[in-house]
Amino acid sequence: MRIGVLALQGAFTEHEKMLRQIGVECFQIRQLSDLDVGIDGLVLPGGESTVMSRLLRDLGLYEPLKNAILDGMPVLATCAGAILLAQEVDGGVPCFATVPMKVKRNAYGRQLGSFVCEAEVEGIGIYPMRFIRAPYIAEASDKVRTMAEVDEKIVAAEYGSQTVLSFHPELTEDKRIHEYFAKRVQAFCSR
Ligand code: GLN
Repeated sequence: MRIGVLALQGAFTEHEKMLRQIGVECFQIRQLSDLDVGIDGLVLPGGESTVMSRLLRDLGLYEPLKNAILDGMPVLATCAGAILLAQEVDGGVPCFATVPMKVKRNAYGRQLGSFVCEAEVEGIGIYPMRFIRAPYIAEASDKVRTMAEVDEKIVAAEYGSQTVLSFHPELTEDKRIHEYFAKRVQAFCSR
C-alpha cells in the first residue's frame, strides 16, 4: 500500500514522518508525474488552503486527485486539508468540494488561534488535539458521521472514505489516527 502526501505547502513532512514511523510507504505529491507510481490513499495536510487550492489547479493535480477521491480512495485531511474537501467554505472558496459539509475558516480567531485540548474521537479514544487557526465544521449533511466535538463544534468527521479533522494529529506523538487511516487504506487496497 502506498500513501501519497500532498506536498505543495504546509505541514506535510510531519505526516510523512508519522506514516514512516508506523511502517507505511509514502510519497510526496508535488507535481502531476508524482501520481505515476499509483497511490492507494491521500493525505491533505494543514497549511494555507487558499494557496494549496491555487497550486492544485496550476499544477494540473486538481482533476486527477478529485477523480480518485470520488472513486473512493481514502483521504485523511487535516485542517486546511479539510477545507479543501468541504462543499461550502465560510470565509473562502471550495476546492474539491467532495464532502457535503460547510466549514468555517479561521474559526477560533487569528490572534488567539492556537490551542491544545483533549477530547474523545469515536473509535479511537481520548486524543490530544492541536488546533492552529483551525476551521470547524459548521454544518454537515446527515450522511457525514461526526467523530469528535470540541466546545459543541464538530472537529472530526467522516464521509465515506474521507476523514476530515480540524486539528493536527501529525504534530503530536500520538500515532493512533495515522494507524486508523492506514487500516482504511489497507482495506481499500484489498477490496
Ligand atoms: N487557516 C488555514 C486555512 O484557512 C488553516 C490552518 C491550518 O491548516 N493550520 O487554510
